Amino acid sequence: MAENHSCWTRRAFLKAACAAGAGSVITLNHFAASASDEAVVVPTRPFGKTGIEVPILGFGTSLHAAFSQLLLRQAVEWGVTYWDTANTYMGGNSEAAIGKYFTKYPEDRKKVFLVTKSHAGSADGRTRDLNLSLERMQTDYIDLYFAHGIWNADELDVQTKRWAQNAKAEGKIRFFGFSTHSNMEECLLGAAGLGWIDGIMMSYNYRLMYNDRMKRAVEACAKAGIGLTAMKTQAGGQVKTSTATELELAGRFLQKGFTDAQAKLKAVWQNPRIASICSEMPNMTLLMSNVAAALDKTQLSARDNELMQLYAKETRSAYCAGCTDICESCVDGNAPIGDVMRYLMYCNSYGDYKVAATGFNKIPEKIRRSLTNLDYSEAESKCPQGLPIAWLMQEAKKGLET
Ligand code: SF4
Repeated sequence: MAENHSCWTRRAFLKAACAAGAGSVITLNHFAASASDEAVVVPTRPFGKTGIEVPILGFGTSLHAAFSQLLLRQAVEWGVTYWDTANTYMGGNSEAAIGKYFTKYPEDRKKVFLVTKSHAGSADGRTRDLNLSLERMQTDYIDLYFAHGIWNADELDVQTKRWAQNAKAEGKIRFFGFSTHSNMEECLLGAAGLGWIDGIMMSYNYRLMYNDRMKRAVEACAKAGIGLTAMKTQAGGQVKTSTATELELAGRFLQKGFTDAQAKLKAVWQNPRIASICSEMPNMTLLMSNVAAALDKTQLSARDNELMQLYAKETRSAYCAGCTDICESCVDGNAPIGDVMRYLMYCNSYGDYKVAATGFNKIPEKIRRSLTNLDYSEAESKCPQGLPIAWLMQEAKKGLET
């Protein structure tokens, strides 16, 4: 790595990315041959009607202070200046890592569009969380503050609206919104009619984005001027099937010079309504690979999109679409199916056992104990993804309970 990060040029970056094997050799070689010496900066898009331009690649920061400083520094240099965290990530260490960075590089605070979140359901709880986040991140303000992981637009009540208005008036936050990975379409459609939601981060990927209801929800938010950030863009990671579709897709991506992970980012960026992708990038290789994908202008073709839809259909039982309104209401008992599916995804697809187990074991013991005794037959029959819910509950309990 160059000592002086500010002198990374487009040419130097692409050369290094090729050498590291990050991303596509073919595409990056092509770049390297034609690139000028302009600086490497990820393109930007407007974030709703906020008047702010954000990079199309955002940094999902579940970080540890000791290992993150170089990554954060490099992210700024490459224009990856949308930073997303939450007060709970890494038990608060992720916010502390950002605070450590801003203490060392205070001049970078203004370059960063800083997002954090709180699970608190009350105004007092949210205020406590916000104050702690400000202190940990060594900043006077948060650019975008999210209610963390809402399930239903009804959670966006008058009290929440008032809290957001007060926090803005005090200068502690600039914009307010929410994140959601359950019933995303309903949450988006509900928010579009409210008039006081500035931004939303939702699960959005090649498995969800072609769905008519999701298309309508995204369109409604765009019309309402709500900035949209996509998360979970890898849709649970790679599914090992070796179907004819998968093989054809892999061959096509290889020819164009993409990895499948880069292609999945490109699929999301096709929609200009999506301002940014929030991607967790715990190491330099992944940061470089994603930056290379953001710089590369090669588009997916109509056939690529068709095949991705077909592949999503063929492998649908490998992905929980977060439509918990469908399954959880069919179970006679308290079963947080969507949460459990997400913890399984963290473990099986992302290989992050610790995050998965921590989340799973936060489910109250009484609910965990009953998880494998409930009748999921109706939920399974209604699940649009055809997931074997009962079996997956058992797998989660066996593999994640400590
Ligand atoms: S288990 Fe099925 S119905 Fe339930 S949220 Fe996941 S995909 Fe939707």
